[in-house]
Amino acid sequence: MADHDVIIIGAGFGGMGAAISLKRLGYDDIAILEREDDLGGTWHVNHYPGLAVDIASVTYSYSFEPNPYWKHWFARGSELKQYAEHVADKYDLRRHMEFGVLAEGARWDEDARHWVLTTKPVGGGRRRTRTARFLMTATGFLSQPRLPDIEGVEDFAGTVIHTASWDDAADLDGKRIAVIGTGATAVQLIPRIAARAGHLTVFQRTPIWVTPKTDFRIPRPVQQLFAAQPWTQRAARKANSLWLEGMMVTAVLHYKQAKLLNQGAARLAKAHLKRQVHDPEIRARLTPDYSFGCKRPTFSNEYYPTFNRPDVTLETAGIERITPTSIVTKDGTEHEVDVLVLATGFNLWDTNFPAIEVIGRDGKDLGKSWRTSGYHAFEGVTVSGFPNFISLNSPYSYSGLSYFMTIEVQMRHIERLFGALAEQDADTFEITQRADAEFLDHMLARMDDTVFNRGSCATARSYYYTNEGDAVLLRPTSSANARRAGEHFPLEDYAYA
Ligand code: NAP
Repeated sequence: MADHDVIIIGAGFGGMGAAISLKRLGYDDIAILEREDDLGGTWHVNHYPGLAVDIASVTYSYSFEPNPYWKHWFARGSELKQYAEHVADKYDLRRHMEFGVLAEGARWDEDARHWVLTTKPVGGGRRRTRTARFLMTATGFLSQPRLPDIEGVEDFAGTVIHTASWDDAADLDGKRIAVIGTGATAVQLIPRIAARAGHLTVFQRTPIWVTPKTDFRIPRPVQQLFAAQPWTQRAARKANSLWLEGMMVTAVLHYKQAKLLNQGAARLAKAHLKRQVHDPEIRARLTPDYSFGCKRPTFSNEYYPTFNRPDVTLETAGIERITPTSIVTKDGTEHEVDVLVLATGFNLWDTNFPAIEVIGRDGKDLGKSWRTSGYHAFEGVTVSGFPNFISLNSPYSYSGLSYFMTIEVQMRHIERLFGALAEQDADTFEITQRADAEFLDHMLARMDDTVFNRGSCATARSYYYTNEGDAVLLRPTSSANARRAGEHFPLEDYAYA
């Protein structure tokens, strides 16, 4: 007898969504294990200055749990954390959660027909094992911070902060601050830091495409309208999602058919840059030389104007090494620094996919097999050889630009699959090798339409690509296609026993 029916690893929006689906199906013996000290995933971990969602909140939220009271069109980080808490309370998820638990590895026990998970307390302490009939990993895509592999970085004697472990008490006022990285996080952070620094130097390796962000406070009467007439908020969600789908998803994933749209998005970003940055030489250095969408683009009205400030320098010479007091660039210049901010993102392909060791049937190691035989997961959810295992952060799983699109498609998948399992009165499910392989073939064929295969992505250095150079993160179909697949994938693609 297993300790639990289900263990979910991760108490972010993905893990909570899975738990909501399981509860809808009547499961109650669910343990949600989380390494952090509270729920909310990325919205608990990240609290750097300027943190906000860059997908409008009417879309970036569960469709079945709209929040009429978002204060801004793009919610700030703290509002999303509050929303996560609200969801946990409303769906009675807290009593399933255990914090400060680090999951290390899981192994399928064929005889007992359950998963054996090894965990240990984050603060140190004894390892223990727990068993569950079903294992679900909801460990996030962007959850393993990346420290830059720059010579001397560990010798820096001043303050060092990675954006994912922001020190709210750090003294930034009047300091010489260096930010390494210009991804979506840096784009939000840099304007805030510039306002406090004595001098800010931004070390850019690869520029990012930035389009305008139409943000505004949502007036009280609109909030009241959303609350009184929920269809109005649903309509706003639909309109915004359609816009995102057209601009961001179609232009990137259907590049072959919608090249003009892709070029239009790039033109929009270039016009935004031209309007906002005065110096043509700085503009040139901020202009990406790869196709729009090879790397995740972002939205901001504040980022570019920061580079007009006399106390902000854009440094693009490339970092040679870091000394205890400075950053030395490849042109030999030494930049004295008091505070080093690492906006260097997350490691997806060495320390994630999967985030823990997962050993399935016949000793098959998920991470190793993905790396040696190629990345695959049926509908971005299940992998052959891994019975009773749901991997929410799988290859080809990310659909649409809002993570909630992915989450809800996966919730539907779980509900239908577990429904079939109950109907068959079976204990185990496993995706058949045939269905897993056919889905991969389908994804690879669709990949031919995308900017990743047809655009000019060589210089993008995008985390969408594995170390081997394959863009396996995004599902190369429309969001509508993903939704339909969640609703209609053949239940007989699974073997039940
Ligand atoms: P990121 O996009 O991976 O950016 C990391 C940055 O660090 C890149 O500019 C990278 O340069 C640079 N970097 C890494 N190692 C370096 C090195 N050794 N030397 C020099 N530069 C180095 O990470 P992120 O900005 O944290 O964003 C990650 C994702 O989080 C985003 O794409 C987005 O999906 C999500 N996010 C979302 C929101 C939101 O509002 N929804 C906000 C923030 C973040 P290269 O490009 O040259 O590698």
